[in-house]
Amino acid sequence: MSAAIKIEDLYHWYEIGEGQRVAALAGVDLEVQAGEFLALVGANGSGKSTLARHLNALLMPHQGRVLVNGIDTADQGRLWEVRCQVGMVFQNPDNQLVATIVEDDVAFGPENLGLPPAIIRERVDCALEAVGMSEHRRYPPHHLSGGQKQRVAIAGVLAMQPNCIVLDEPTAMLDPQGRQEVLATVRRLNKQQGITVILITHFMEEAIAADRVAVMADGRLIHQGTPREVFARQGELYQAGLDIPQVTELADRLRASGVSMPPVVLSVEELVSTLCS
Ligand code: ADP
Ligand code: MG
Repeated sequence: MSAAIKIEDLYHWYEIGEGQRVAALAGVDLEVQAGEFLALVGANGSGKSTLARHLNALLMPHQGRVLVNGIDTADQGRLWEVRCQVGMVFQNPDNQLVATIVEDDVAFGPENLGLPPAIIRERVDCALEAVGMSEHRRYPPHHLSGGQKQRVAIAGVLAMQPNCIVLDEPTAMLDPQGRQEVLATVRRLNKQQGITVILITHFMEEAIAADRVAVMADGRLIHQGTPREVFARQGELYQAGLDIPQVTELADRLRASGVSMPPVVLSVEELVSTLCS
């Protein structure tokens, strides 16, 4: 695997008034391999969204650098290439859907690329298929559920054929069913199409689905590892203002009460098989 994204000693400050600034990122180093599924977690204000915006050059490094498939995001002449390679999905699907019909919305990006109509059509078909929304292609977005709207927003990004998708708390505004739909869609795109995924989430249950979890606190990355490694560091996660998955916590309580348990339990299935073995 090669690095799809390489972040080197990245700093970002926001001006918050006369000579005052807040460091949103304070020396972040991170590599994401092509085809990897990375979950990025951290308390509110830890710098996750700022980091996300650096990945497709919506923000420029104040210090350090960000490479997307080897392209420096500060290279103004290659901005377009970077933007095409890394697609962004945000929290509120209503802010991302621009057209009055689903398929027009998905076509919006490729139309802006000036692609021939037949190619646009093909891309829209593929993208809607990939998120399971083909049957809704002629619906107005406001007739869809939150989960369906977010899947259309993902289709809009897919129609640009990115190598990598960054999703900034895409399920925060959704009900449990919508969250499940979006997570399943993202997993499928990663596993079946090999798209690199960076999922920012505050639902630890979603982070478990990733290959690797990176934890942010105060503009820094404080841990990275497999979900199993990261969720074993309960004390440090609490300190960073994060929960552990409910099932992990339940297993911890059972262990503390004398029930024999593996060091980290990450799923209901695992807990059941431990209890029934
Ligand atoms: P997260 O997504 O983890 O909640 P953010 O990247 O949004 O974190 O914010 C990181 C820090 O930068 C916070 O202290 C936040 O208040 C500050 N910040 C974010 N955006 C701005 C902005 N536009 N102007 C000033 N400060 C900002
Ligand atoms: Mg944020």
